[in-house]
Amino acid sequence: MKKVFLISVDGFRPEMVDENYCNFLKQLAKNNFYINNMRSMIPPITLPCFFSVFFGVNPFTHGVFYNIIPDEYKVESPNLFEVLEENRIESYAFFNWGTLEKSFGRKGIYGKRKFVDDLTINGDKKMVEEILSFPTDSLPNVFYLYLGALDEVGHKDGWMSNSYIETAKVVDSLIEKLFNRFAGDYDFIIHSDHGGYEYGHYVIMEEIMNVPFIYYSPEKSLCNLKKLAPSIVDIAPTILSLFNIEAPSLWEGSSIL
Ligand SMILES: [Zn+2]
Repeated sequence: MKKVFLISVDGFRPEMVDENYCNFLKQLAKNNFYINNMRSMIPPITLPCFFSVFFGVNPFTHGVFYNIIPDEYKVESPNLFEVLEENRIESYAFFNWGTLEKSFGRKGIYGKRKFVDDLTINGDKKMVEEILSFPTDSLPNVFYLYLGALDEVGHKDGWMSNSYIETAKVVDSLIEKLFNRFAGDYDFIIHSDHGGYEYGHYVIMEEIMNVPFIYYSPEKSLCNLKKLAPSIVDIAPTILSLFNIEAPSLWEGSSIL
């Protein structure tokens, strides 16, 4: 069965790939499918964005507009992890921002999860080391990795600050390690939830709304972009399409590949 490795780099601006900052990702993007203008959501805030990524609907449908869950919110659409489990596709999610787990499903636990309580680059490194040490005979069909350190640095020192750039370079090297270990077996999708400007990401502007999306497959099939103006709500249907599974009818996006 196909294997997919989904990596979310929080607050990762496409310039990091387009210009000479993240040399591994720049090369990966050049040789594979890449867009630097996938759209974030409105509002471009982390939890609303990830609700959109995993529940496949826009914030006005899922009703989460901040990084807290309101008492009343309405998510009727199936969650990506739930759909994977229904189709007997094993998933294993690693993340270092605890609140993110709320976007992984409403009821029950779908797939395996590992929370590393360290939202610095050391937390990012710990998760990557753990994934690198996985025995070859127990690899899941879907690895999910959320890397949260870069967004923290953006809020503290500013987007495109020296420390933001240095952190992005470390993230680049971590993804390179994962790629070197798993690229023979896994398709890779690398994306972000939103960009950032100065010390945040709360308004609608290009630096915040455009995010990178890279897709690699060891099968080397060429892909074309199937739709205009793709957004992060299209990520879940794109992943299902890699497994030849139709997206749930309540999802608002569609496969971009
Ligand atoms: Zn974020």
